[in-house]
Amino acid sequence: MPLYDFACRVCGRTFEAMAKMGEGQSVCACGGTAERLLSVGGGYRADADWLPSVMAVVDKDSPKPHVRAFLAEPSRANYRRWLAGEKLRPLEGGESRRPPAPGPDIAREVRARFAARHGVA
Ligand SMILES: [Zn+2]
Repeated sequence: MPLYDFACRVCGRTFEAMAKMGEGQSVCACGGTAERLLSVGGGYRADADWLPSVMAVVDKDSPKPHVRAFLAEPSRANYRRWLAGEKLRPLEGGESRRPPAPGPDIAREVRARFAARHGVA
């Protein structure tokens, strides 16, 4: 069986595990369910430090094209497209790199704070 990269939905850790072709999930050391990171390639590292925090907030059931594209290939280019599609922006210097706690209203909350900070509707 080939090795695949997985990202835990609970603790955010990424790890390698053997998996059958087409098997999309594994179990993390913490007991949480881990999602397989598909199609490693294109120069991105599956253990990149930004990836788990992004995976924690991506709506994996969303049918939106920018979400599907990112989940299929979580490269930096697709990450930027996802950010744009969610009307988010990368962190700037000095901002906290800690991801917000996963929740259903993350995107709205982030947009609201962004709007408040920048005085836009
Ligand atoms: Zn875990």
